[in-house]
Amino acid sequence: MNYPKMEEEILKYWNEHEIFKKSIEKRKGEKKFVFLEGPPTANGMPHPGHVLTRTVKDVVLRYKTMKGYYVARKAGWDTHGLPVEIEVEKILGLKNKQEIEEFGIEKFNQECKKNVFKYEEAWKEMTKRVGFWIDMENPYITLDNLYIESVWWSLKEAWKRGLLYRGYRVTPYCPRCGTTLSSHEVAQGYKEVEDDSIFVKFKIKGKDEFLLAWTTTPWTLISNVALAVHPDELYVKIEYNGEKIILAEARAKSILKEYRVLDVFKGMELKGIEYEPLYKFVEPDKKCWYVVTAVFVTMDEGTGIVHIAPAFGEEDYEVGIKYDLPVVQLVDNEGKFKKEAGWLSGKFVKDADKEIIENLKERGLLEGEQKYRHQYPFCWRCDSPLIYYAIESWFIGMSKLRDNLLKNNEEIKWYPENLKYGRFLDFIKDVRDWALSRKRYWGTPLPIWVCEKCKKEICIGSIKELKDLAGKIPYDLHRPFIDEIKIKCECGGEMKRVEEVIDAWYDSGCAFFAQWHYPFENEEEFMNNFPADFICEAIDQTRGWFYSLLAVSTLLFDKTCYKNVLTLGLILDEKGQKMSKKARNYIEPSEIFSKYGADALRWYLLSSSPPWQPKRIYEKAIKDALSQFLLTLWNVYSFYKTYSNLDKFDYERDFVKERKLIDRWILSRLQKVIMEVDKRMEEFEIHKACRAIEDFVVDELSNWYIRLCRKRFWTEEQNFDKLSGYSTLYEILSTLARIIAPFVPFIGEKIYLEMKGESVHLCDFPVVEESLIDEKLEEKMRLAREITEIIRGLRAKKNIKVRYPLKEAIISMEEGGELEEVINLIKEETNVKNIIFVENIEEYMEKKVKANLASLGKKYKKDAGNIANLIENCSVEKLKEGKIICNGKEYEISEEDYRIEIKEKEGYIFGEKDGIKVLLNITKSEELIVEGFAREIVRRIQQMRKEMNLEMEEKIIVEINISRDRIDGWEDYVKNETRSKEIKYCLPQDGYIKEWDIDDERIIIGIKKI
Ligand SMILES: [Zn+2]
Ligand SMILES: [Zn+2]
Repeated sequence: MNYPKMEEEILKYWNEHEIFKKSIEKRKGEKKFVFLEGPPTANGMPHPGHVLTRTVKDVVLRYKTMKGYYVARKAGWDTHGLPVEIEVEKILGLKNKQEIEEFGIEKFNQECKKNVFKYEEAWKEMTKRVGFWIDMENPYITLDNLYIESVWWSLKEAWKRGLLYRGYRVTPYCPRCGTTLSSHEVAQGYKEVEDDSIFVKFKIKGKDEFLLAWTTTPWTLISNVALAVHPDELYVKIEYNGEKIILAEARAKSILKEYRVLDVFKGMELKGIEYEPLYKFVEPDKKCWYVVTAVFVTMDEGTGIVHIAPAFGEEDYEVGIKYDLPVVQLVDNEGKFKKEAGWLSGKFVKDADKEIIENLKERGLLEGEQKYRHQYPFCWRCDSPLIYYAIESWFIGMSKLRDNLLKNNEEIKWYPENLKYGRFLDFIKDVRDWALSRKRYWGTPLPIWVCEKCKKEICIGSIKELKDLAGKIPYDLHRPFIDEIKIKCECGGEMKRVEEVIDAWYDSGCAFFAQWHYPFENEEEFMNNFPADFICEAIDQTRGWFYSLLAVSTLLFDKTCYKNVLTLGLILDEKGQKMSKKARNYIEPSEIFSKYGADALRWYLLSSSPPWQPKRIYEKAIKDALSQFLLTLWNVYSFYKTYSNLDKFDYERDFVKERKLIDRWILSRLQKVIMEVDKRMEEFEIHKACRAIEDFVVDELSNWYIRLCRKRFWTEEQNFDKLSGYSTLYEILSTLARIIAPFVPFIGEKIYLEMKGESVHLCDFPVVEESLIDEKLEEKMRLAREITEIIRGLRAKKNIKVRYPLKEAIISMEEGGELEEVINLIKEETNVKNIIFVENIEEYMEKKVKANLASLGKKYKKDAGNIANLIENCSVEKLKEGKIICNGKEYEISEEDYRIEIKEKEGYIFGEKDGIKVLLNITKSEELIVEGFAREIVRRIQQMRKEMNLEMEEKIIVEINISRDRIDGWEDYVKNETRSKEIKYCLPQDGYIKEWDIDDERIIIGIKKI
């Protein structure tokens, strides 16, 4: 079968018959299962990671639909944000914000909008091809005016409660991109660099004494406002190079050589001491330049005195808040000193280090300098060094909602469970206020207007509100149009919008209500879909979308907006490396689809490991999924199709109620598969559901049931045996199609369509039929299969082909009752004539006594050898008497003097597994050799008939270079099996002649068609 082609046909069928739409409509009015789609961005090609999320979502949604739920599926697109802008900057060759503004915000945003949907077609195609059913015709899109309006509403709600505010925050900042980076972005760009670190003296006011501080970022000294010491550590005043210097005692010992200690005291005692500023470019608006205490001061490096610049350090900023220190911010958005910074004005901060060091040296304030190697963060996009920078930003006061977040997390079921109290809890426990605003262009505009005259601020919560206040609204709510909307202030001044847009994570965090344009419309839909039952994305969304959703829904409704969250592992390459666009270490999904099909990829992704574990993806694995599972299933189905067509079997007309034993067994097993899949899907253990299905199909259905039943369908008459088999296979396959439909929707559809003429995806998931379960029979069959496996293993060990019949197998089992019903199956499968069950298999084996020379030697010294000889020739019963006579002397014998070995008798071989012991008779009797040889001949002739393309009913004459007695008594058997009219025992002369090697013997067979 050409698998990918079959899938294309199914896609066509789905499209023509609107099966997706019907599958949803059919469930209207049923209980809902609410799914919320995490919106991807279509400005990059979809890769295997996206295929994984789409596949897993699809399985769950199809399964729930088949279980009777109404499962609406709205697609979504995430459209705003810096990644889009960066991409467009690259395309347009723009290097910074100034160039963007010169290019024009309107044109720039137009490009962004176009770029966002650059690969929409590729995304749609991938989504369709992988079989993910989602409504792509009516998606929610975060750039829509109505979506933006809903986001505005939420911001106004926060504003009304005082949770949307303006503040400072020290964040890693890229001066090139002109924007802050989130912590996970920073983590991507560390490099080892060598910077100048310096020791600087700060003169204490009114004294000729200095505080010695150490810094690795000299340029931040411009903004120094305090020095911090550890309150509990010891500090010393020393005389060093003729000066009085203060630093930590521990640090003095490790960095200085000759000095004289003048005084020792705790850091606490330095608190409040004022010093003279190094630089005074601006007059601060608050008290500063004094010693404060902070526990983060370390004794591991530096001097134990830390210079504090709240504008340029996170810890510094915290100290600043605590002591109400001023923020001296003399650096602009491009990382250059502002004009207030005098002689430094216009310089990029990192480049100013040298001049500042020089300046301090001239003034005699530099105590020393050293190169300092450390890890420093660079921008992952543009490779500029980042600076830590206090920027004004708009915040959402999430830290005030911390307890609510914790409470709402309790209501969420996380898969895997450990995220709930692990990674996610850790994150929300330390939740910070959400730095919401971005000084950028392509995003939801922050709806805050400020009066130029009286500085009054208002937040706009709807389009109508804006229109009422401004008299008009723009056609497009994005920049620059929204910036042109001015509002008249009550003071008579003019209000202008602040220039910021908001974090795109906030946009997608609003999806659960903004997709409905709530609260302006669709209140009922919103209420009916809140909270969602199920969301599912890659694990890296834990601090991304999973958080932003919970944050926004906690803020607005103080409830979680999702009940179950399934996180998926990352996709890796064959060697376990992360996939990357740079390394191109992955196969394009489209290539996989056209080579192996979507089902193969789906099955591999679903069955290989738990959804939340990383997945290695490579061609061979997908190929194996195709050949090991899908094609096995297809072969079983083809077998059924071929023979039932030949026999014109019609289930409605011909089905029988009574079934043969093996038919009842496979039906019973099928019920267990349904049970297992239901149980596993309840907990999203999709891989276990898949394994149950695969084991059933490969192991039980194909390797056991079909193999054992083949011959039933070869007979020509229409008997009970056959009808029972067809009825069973029909039931098995049509049920199986429904079981696999959510996982591998194409082949499920193909089989079901052919059998039933309707779409499997409009069906219900199979329900367990208790009456078909027969535990006892399953147990018997399990034992029969185990016994068969042991016997086959023993044959293989001795190199005896299954075609050679063996006389008997003696078997004992620890447990397991009557196997009479399945004995014939075992005989047939193992080609053993007789199966005998016994209580104690050791009775059928030889017991051999082995003397223990070590123990005998200790007791009887030189007589030990003779005694040992006697022991080994003694029966076990006799030994149990406890004495032995040697050279007329009686010796005491105890159990440690010998051990009993149990061995197969000549001509037998022993095997054991899980408490089943088998003794297989492998002696070849003359008649068995003849029978086995006859079977070998039959197989060769059948092979040759096939090579001659003979039809079943065509008769032949066989010539063969053996004597008649080689198949004595089996000639008729050979003739019947091979449809031969005559066998001539001679060297073949004409016809189709072939030479064979049968057990090292040269056998020549010739065949003539009659
Ligand atoms: Zn950058
Ligand atoms: Zn005003």
